[in-house]
This record gives sequence, structure tokens and C-alpha cells, in this order.
Amino acid sequence: EIRVRFAPSPTGGLHLGGVRTALYNFLFARKHQGKFILRIEDTDQTRFVPGAEEYIIRCLEWCGLKPDEGPHMGGPFGPYRQSERKNTYAQYAHQLVEQGHAYYAFDTPEELEAKRRQQPNFQYDATTRGQMKNSLTLAANEVRTYLNEGRPYVIRIRMPENKTIRIHDLIRGEVEFDTSQVDDKVLLKADGMPTYHLAVVVDDYLMQISHVFRGEEWLPSTPVHVLLWEYLFGKEHMPEWAHLPLILRPDGHGKLSKRDGDRLGFPVYAMDWTDPFTHETTRGFREMGFLPEAFVNMLALLGWNDGSGQEIFTLDELIDRFSIERIHKAGARFDFEKAKWFNHEWIKRLPVKHYLEEIKTFFKQQHIPLPDDEKLIRALDLIKERCTLLGDFTEQGKFFFVAPETYDLSAIQKKWSSGMQAAFEEWEKALAQVEPWVAENIEHALISAAESRGLKKNDMLLPLRIMLVGGKFGPPVFQIAELLGKAETRQRIRKALE
Ligand code: GLU
Repeated sequence: EIRVRFAPSPTGGLHLGGVRTALYNFLFARKHQGKFILRIEDTDQTRFVPGAEEYIIRCLEWCGLKPDEGPHMGGPFGPYRQSERKNTYAQYAHQLVEQGHAYYAFDTPEELEAKRRQQPNFQYDATTRGQMKNSLTLAANEVRTYLNEGRPYVIRIRMPENKTIRIHDLIRGEVEFDTSQVDDKVLLKADGMPTYHLAVVVDDYLMQISHVFRGEEWLPSTPVHVLLWEYLFGKEHMPEWAHLPLILRPDGHGKLSKRDGDRLGFPVYAMDWTDPFTHETTRGFREMGFLPEAFVNMLALLGWNDGSGQEIFTLDELIDRFSIERIHKAGARFDFEKAKWFNHEWIKRLPVKHYLEEIKTFFKQQHIPLPDDEKLIRALDLIKERCTLLGDFTEQGKFFFVAPETYDLSAIQKKWSSGMQAAFEEWEKALAQVEPWVAENIEHALISAAESRGLKKNDMLLPLRIMLVGGKFGPPVFQIAELLGKAETRQRIRKALE
């Protein structure tokens, strides 16, 4: 059975890279009728941020990536929060010590600090562990005494010397590691909590994970994980590895960070994230007016394509087309303009009804009074082609619900004449007879009024637009009049003619 997991640490907001990892896991699971598991990796108590787990769950929900198992919903392999599995890990750490693959290290933080001061490149490994205070250098009875005294210790993996570890990565192909390059990583900390390295292997085994999709930054840790698999569970149960390419800054120089977003004015988090300690809020894609359909579509193509040149995909289409073979090796450059393009496409494609509630929120934020849904949808349908972000609907559509208070007169100065004033006054009165009130009839009435004064209809269009809208924008003007209704249209013309 295919079982994959998204395993974030609750240390802050969920950024683009994190959501993309979740998405690829999700797509792969759905494609193969497998299970998508959410596991919270919260063993590093010093980096734990309250509220982050709830935030992650809400982000996944917004994106439509519903886990099959997770801390908020349970499942047959729980608990899904590592802090609640503490005892399980310790037992494996001690097993490794007994097997000779790991050892107790009693060095105090001060001693390690002193060592690092002496040797700036110090790394706890085969070449240095002989100089340190651990169960490999101390006599067996000393070790027993230390343990009985309750001295704090960590358990470290004993990395073999000069061994080559080979993995087959589904994205990067054959990758080799020289174990001498890797330090003796801590597996169990002095507080009894496992480190990521131990917990990830134990949980991937116990949760029967078949494929590990995760960011490329974890590739250097993989030899440690491979060895732990070999020592504890046997290589035959080891999952397949797939390390996803980095998401790069728009200029291609380096990894995309929160700071790039802040500096260049685009979001890097899925949803607004407020740091509970600093109370700083970082803008999210949702609050910026992105549709989840567009956000997920954009993310899927940040490091993958189906080879056909197609760019717009629904989530179901993505599930259908997704393949590991087509995930890129090279880093994917994030382009905010392209992200907006996806959103524009999705706004055009989806019926307004689909995102009506979100748009209402934007109107409410600006205290714009709203009509009933039916009328609102008709108005929004007229302007959706012009909107890139959901917030654009307020700018583009406000005039439907609030009469203009100022007019862009520069747009019409040259066209205005006393004849035109008279033609508009005549037309405004004639409008009383227009029945039914539809764009075509409104237009006919205007043509008659214009011709009676020797004017052309086209000369009157822009002035009319300025009267109804206030500015030089918006959908076809007779459709605007139709939607505004007879009374409101006449009212706006009278007011503008004053
Ligand atoms: N907890 C790790 C993270 O926050 C997960 C890495 C993995 O998927 O193995 O990225």
C-alpha cells in the first residue's frame, strides 16, 4: 500500500515550499489510491510555536489537501504528534546502543563549547570521539556509575568510517554519501526527547510509510536515516526517497525566504501568519486574494509539469497527470507575476458563485454595501475578466453599489458642449419610457437623443461612463446602466449634469 506523509515541524507559518511538499505527497497518494498522513514533528521543544499546528491544518484545508490520518482526526497509526510518542523512541535509541551502533555521550554543554573554541571546525565523529567523554572512551564500570548517578547524557549514532552509502532517489537518481563526512548525530537528547533523525526513521517505519517526499535540504541527512533503517528495521522496509527541488528567489539567486517576500511585496505563506511572540503578521496568499485552485495549480507547476505545455489544471487533473518522473531536479524559480496570472485564469474560469463569500469579505472590509446575491453575481460577472486578485473586485465593482462622488473630468473636457448637455438632459427624461430596462433599449434611446442634437452616439459614451462610474474603466456602459436599474441610472445622470 502507498502511504506518504507530510511531516512539518510546528515552528511557524507554512510557506510555499512546505505546501508544495504537502501537495506532491497528496497528489501521489491520491493517484495511487494510497494514504496521505499528516504528522507533526514537534520534538524540538525550543522551536515549538503555539498555534502553528492549527495553522498548518487550516492551510491544508484551504488548499483542499485533506489528510487521511493526522493529529486532528486520528487514524490507525497514531498518535500523530511526535511529542506524544516519546517513549517509543527512547527504546530504539537504547537498542542501538546495545547493538553497538550508538553510544552514550556525557560531554556537558560547557565541555563541548570549550572544544569548539579550541577547534573551530570541530565535528563529533570517528576522528574526534576518542577525545570525548562517552561510552566508547570510558570504562564499562564508569559508564554504569555515570548512568546510575543520573548524569545527563545524549545518545549519538556511531557513524562508520569510510563507508559509501548509496541511495536511489526517485528524483535525483543514484546519490552517494561518504560516511566520514557526516558527524555522529545526536539521536536522543538529554531531556529524553528524540532528535528529528531518530524520530523520522522510527515513525516512518511504524507508520508504514512507503515513499518519503521532502525538501532537498534533507538530502545530506539521508545517509544517517539509511543507516538507522539498516540497523533497526532492515533495509527491505525502507521507503523510497524523493527529494524535491528548492524553490528559488525570483532572480534565481538562492532559496526563497520570508525576507524576499517582505522586501519585494509578495506573500510567501499560504495564509496570514501572525507570530505569537512578536505579533508580526506576514501576508498570506489567501488574504492577498488568491483562489486556492490557483494557488495549488501554481505550486504544482513549481518544479513539475506534465510535458504537454498545459498550465491550467484542476486538483483532479493534477492527481491524474502527476508523476515523479516529471519532477525537476533543478530549483524552481518563484515568479509572483506568474502566480497572479494563474489567479486571473482561475477567476475567469470559475463561476463567481464559487468565490462569492470570499469577495464579500473584501467588500465588507471596505464597508461597501452589498445588494442581494443575484444582483451581486451579475455585477461581478461583468467585471471578472478585469480582476487578477479577489481584492480587485472591490476596486472594479464598487461603483455598482456606491454612486461616484468624484468624476474624472479630464477624460471628457474636450468632448463636452452645451449641445451635449441638452442631449443628456433630453435622454435622461426619455429614459422614463424605456421598457423593458435592458441594455439594447437604453442604447436606442441614447442614439435618438444624440441624433436630435446632431451628435454621434460614440461621442456620448465616455461622458456617460464618467457619470455612471466616475472613471474611465469598467464593462460596456449600457450593461452597467441595465444593472444599475432605471432609477439609479437617471439619478446618477441628473446629479452629474447639475
Ligand atoms: N520535520 C521536517 C520538516 O519540518 C520533515 C522532514 C521530512 O519530511 O523528513 O521539514
